[in-house]
Amino acid sequence: MLATLRKQLERNYLHPFYRKKFDDANLKPEDIKSEKDFQKLPFTTRSELNQLFESEPYGGFMSQDVVRINFSPSGKGLIPILQTSKDIEVIDSVNARAFLNAGMEKNDVVMITFSYHIFIAGLNFHGGVEKLGAKAIPLGPGSTERALEIAEIAKPTVLISNPSFALKLANEGLEGIKLFVAAGEPFTSVEGYREKVKDAFDGIVAVDYYGMAECLPIACECRYENGLHVMDEFCYVEIIDPDTGEVLEGGERGEVVVTHLNKEAMPMQRFRTGDLSMIERFECDCGRTLTMPKGVFGRTDEMYKVKGVKFYPSQLALILKSFPELSGRFRAVIKRTEKGTDYLEIEVEGKEADLKRLENVVKNALLISPNEIRIVERLEKDREVIDMRY
Ligand SMILES: [Zn+2]
Repeated sequence: MLATLRKQLERNYLHPFYRKKFDDANLKPEDIKSEKDFQKLPFTTRSELNQLFESEPYGGFMSQDVVRINFSPSGKGLIPILQTSKDIEVIDSVNARAFLNAGMEKNDVVMITFSYHIFIAGLNFHGGVEKLGAKAIPLGPGSTERALEIAEIAKPTVLISNPSFALKLANEGLEGIKLFVAAGEPFTSVEGYREKVKDAFDGIVAVDYYGMAECLPIACECRYENGLHVMDEFCYVEIIDPDTGEVLEGGERGEVVVTHLNKEAMPMQRFRTGDLSMIERFECDCGRTLTMPKGVFGRTDEMYKVKGVKFYPSQLALILKSFPELSGRFRAVIKRTEKGTDYLEIEVEGKEADLKRLENVVKNALLISPNEIRIVERLEKDREVIDMRY
């Protein structure tokens, strides 16, 4: 991995934006001899990219070899994402490997319901499917009626879509699907969601997929459904403490940071995604080892320290999705007791719910035991976090 990384860093170094990062760390690409050395390089943030693209057309990343400009809904506006034809070839191959590992075969007919324009999620999947040699239907987003009409004619065996649309299609009678690839919405990070989709399609394989316009793909599940496997031939993933920037050990929650290993145009180097996850190293039956076992389960842009532990409200929002009796709205109040300890009070909106189960799920996921959890009939705001300590 290090040799590949070094090669990429040498390419990055040619670009003024990244050269400055090396200079700031007083390093040259040849100084990066270990992961520890690499960790000395400054991060790249979305707001930095926004600024760069405001000050210079295409951030200075445009070159003769670029053949595609797609966009990322990054921060304040849209950021153009550049690809050379080799980049597209590499991305298609990585996606093809991911799909093969998930159980897609050449004779599969694959219905893709993601949009093909601007953000090109559909085009991204499409390339991988064709590379694998399966049969891609570029359906794009639209009504269930239209999708079912096409399915009636083409008899798809694989569906690539967001999970809510997949459920809709299953409930409206889509049959014959054996593999579902989920993207675009939280899937495996919502407890019970995978099972729901599998049941709706009569026990198919259902896998999660993770990537973003700046780096696509980052991880994909295999047919064994053990969590998101990092596509480590394509990107190097770190999990950091969003507060200190320190790289965390396996199994610790933190922000996903990605670095391309094989990208010509507009490579990402230590790019802070703002996504919350964790990585574990174990050998899956498919042969891959780096895995995000619980998927991507929140955002790190909003964070509070409660009882010495980081509390990510977006994580709570995801947890509540697995309780159908609850509306998903919540209010969290952080106080300080007279003894000076933190006190976390959570109110969730809904009717009767299994409070014990809720307490357990919250405790296990947040790693904090709230002092009180209450179910209330109505909350004023969708989500509200009030920190009364300061
Ligand atoms: Zn696997």
